[in-house]
Amino acid sequence: MKRILLVEDEQHLANGLRFNLEAEGYAVEIASDGEAALALLLQERRSFDAVLLDVMLPGKDGFEVAAELRAAGQFVPILMLTARGRAEDVLRGFETGADDYLPKPFELRILLARLGGLLRRHQWIQQTPANGVAANSKADSEPAAFEFAGKTIDFGALELRVGARTVQLTLMEADLLRYLVKHEGQAVSRRNLLEEVWGLHEDTD
Ligand code: CA
Repeated sequence: MKRILLVEDEQHLANGLRFNLEAEGYAVEIASDGEAALALLLQERRSFDAVLLDVMLPGKDGFEVAAELRAAGQFVPILMLTARGRAEDVLRGFETGADDYLPKPFELRILLARLGGLLRRHQWIQQTPANGVAANSKADSEPAAFEFAGKTIDFGALELRVGARTVQLTLMEADLLRYLVKHEGQAVSRRNLLEEVWGLHEDTD
């Protein structure tokens, strides 16, 4: 059973989401603020498969929580819940280490699709051995590393190396790059990216 940490201060919203996630077979724990989430993940070292992280929290907000987790080397997949229409929230979310985001209010089935996609990507990364050779038959079409113009993308370590510099990639960034590498030399449509990388379908606006 996949364990989800839901970080949300609005209790009715948190309880409603927990109810729906549990109905989908997830085990859900709620943290009502950022401090509680950090305590669970960093001090108690509790293990979760993904974190649903609201941006608007009392005390430390979702950005600060994500940044502190990543700074401490905690790379649990994070789906950030942002305010609708705030592009700066989305960009800041990715900068602080979120793997994906969803604007509030959201439809439950979109949340479930995003969460499922995030968990699938994470599983794929974990199944790729660190020595760079994927263990399954996808090895030919999904390389563990890719080099271009003096840069190396390491899909196993989720890193982009440029000379001596190493950039940590989010799961979404790695998946997006993997898709583009697989289709090297081709134009890919926005629709294909949404469907193949984000796992969303034609009803997406
Ligand atoms: Ca909130």
